[in-house]
Amino acid sequence: MESINQKIEIKNSDITLYLKREDLLHPYLSGNKYRKLKYNLVQAKAQNKTTLLTFGGAFSNHILAVAASGKEMGFQTIGVIRGEELRDIIAENPTLQKAQDFGMVFEFVSRAAYRDKNRADFNKMLEDKYGDFYLLPEGGTNDLAIKGCEEILTQADESFDYICCAVGTGGTISGIINCSKSSQQVLGFPALKGDFLKEDICKFVQNPNWELVTDYHFGGYAKVTPELVCFINDFYQKHQISLDPIYTGKMVYGIFDLIEKGWFSKGAKILLIHTGGLQGIAGMNMLLKQKNQIEIQTYD
Ligand SMILES: *Cc1c(COP(=O)(O)O)cnc(C)c1O
Repeated sequence: MESINQKIEIKNSDITLYLKREDLLHPYLSGNKYRKLKYNLVQAKAQNKTTLLTFGGAFSNHILAVAASGKEMGFQTIGVIRGEELRDIIAENPTLQKAQDFGMVFEFVSRAAYRDKNRADFNKMLEDKYGDFYLLPEGGTNDLAIKGCEEILTQADESFDYICCAVGTGGTISGIINCSKSSQQVLGFPALKGDFLKEDICKFVQNPNWELVTDYHFGGYAKVTPELVCFINDFYQKHQISLDPIYTGKMVYGIFDLIEKGWFSKGAKILLIHTGGLQGIAGMNMLLKQKNQIEIQTYD
């Protein structure tokens, strides 16, 4: 599957900017989550697994993508969810409610238990309770996920000087780096704080033509500021494209800031990857409303 590259007009600049609309691939299995699951689902079928089990937070794009693909491909799905208090308020959480509608069964765990989720005894508890399953790690990053993300770029994309994407666990950018040309520079915009990402990505890639731009996490994972929300609303007004506040919104904000600061070489051609995640806007708006902060406009 290929997604379209859409030109983004920028005034008073010699930079050429395109946005790869991976967000349009599927409404719930959107963007990179489709890429990351693709070969894992093939593998799960080949191993005759009937159940997928994975992990995630309250508004996780990955959780909903697993629930939606399980429904489409005929797998039972189990979501191990961080936060026991969510058990009683599924109906108030748009992500969990949709995942449940797709048939996902939840195992709610405390934050402490969630932190230890990769321990053997926790895995044993899950197997005793749910039987045999195909395990997808939190965020979905493994070798097969990276193989899927190696299909994001096409031959036509070889003319770009820069390829830019948001970074969570680093799986998506790893696939992009692996299929980039040595003449291209890949820029990753981490959506969270921390220095571990660089090492994680190094485990999956060999090419040296990439770097992380760490100035645009806006305080950390799932943190947003009124400035970021205003940028996302303004971007929609100008270009009629929605951006999610957790990943792509931060990356696109960073790109516009870097263009303004003259960071890119003259006449550079830049391709931004829209990795989707728009389902998360509803949940983020709930939190912003509680805090009496400006919300992300929605249009449908
Ligand atoms: C999960 C996600 C990412 C991060 O992908 P990684 O492979 O974990 O780096 C980026 N954008 C969106 C919209 C996502 O849902």
